[in-house]
Amino acid sequence: MDCLFCSIIAGEIPSKKVYEDDVAFAFLDIEPFHAGHTLVVPKRHTADLTSDPTAFAELAPSVTKVAELLKEKLDAPALNVLVNSGEVAGQSVFHLHVHVVPRYADNPGIAGMARRDPDIDVDAVYSKIIG
Ligand code: 5GP
Ligand code: ZN
Repeated sequence: MDCLFCSIIAGEIPSKKVYEDDVAFAFLDIEPFHAGHTLVVPKRHTADLTSDPTAFAELAPSVTKVAELLKEKLDAPALNVLVNSGEVAGQSVFHLHVHVVPRYADNPGIAGMARRDPDIDVDAVYSKIIG
């Protein structure tokens, strides 16, 4: 099957991995909304939130671990967690993924959550997380 996130999990396409366990693989989003924007994906392929009855529940502990990691390493006081499920909702990659988006006091609130920020230095952010 031709799936971008399956290829990332398999290491066939490079990614900035921040976390991995038996169930999940997590890596920095290529076009972040805020510094440290991470995608947590199940290793087992499933297209979206409703195409597998247990995938989201199985992924939840890993999402929480990634959230804790990002808050600690990036000194982020808050975060948003988001799933776009289905094309009309904005899903563009059809392998279930949870967006974990760290938030910072200088740009608070839900209104500015989902705007791409081209000024983020993704390499510098990555060093802070894995260092
Ligand atoms: P969706 O719109 O499906 O909820 O989210 C897909 C996300 O995947 C987008 O935020 C997009 O920036 C990210 N993305 C797309 N292609 C790649 C890629 O090749 N590498 C990484 N790291 N992220 C990607
Ligand atoms: Zn996949």
